Amino acid sequence: MKIKDLEVEIKRKNIKHIYLRIKNDKVEVSCNNFISKDFIKEFVLKHYEKIKKQIRTRKDKDFYRQNAPKIILPIVKKYSKLMGLFPSKISFRFKISNWGSCTSKNHIIFNYYLIDEDKEFIEYVVVHELAHIKFKHHKKEFWELVERFFPNYKKVRE
Ligand SMILES: [Zn+2]
Repeated sequence: MKIKDLEVEIKRKNIKHIYLRIKNDKVEVSCNNFISKDFIKEFVLKHYEKIKKQIRTRKDKDFYRQNAPKIILPIVKKYSKLMGLFPSKISFRFKISNWGSCTSKNHIIFNYYLIDEDKEFIEYVVVHELAHIKFKHHKKEFWELVERFFPNYKKVRE
């Protein structure tokens, strides 16, 4: 059924309470046979703002999932060749802080939100993480390697 602009699917189950979850762009309500449609409607409307907000943030995440690899992977490829340093694996995560990391096994993880930054900064983060394949620290040799492939690094880091 339709409640405002929401597509609501009702699943009748042998349960005591009423549950609501968001599945793709739809709302799925689980409840037993004794709960009326009016009650369901009221229940969904009560949570309307929260539901809309959740659907919106999910869409945003899809945007990052689609675009981050498209934007970041070619930059990794370019600098991997230049630096002769290749990650064993590349993945992406949603993080509040930390733009990237490199594990002891040279698995590089980028923050999806990195694509909100300008291109120069993305390149810097890529060079920084690739340099960690060679040096697992931030000592002098590490920064010298970063500087060789990204001379502007001091300016970009600010
Ligand atoms: Zn680092």
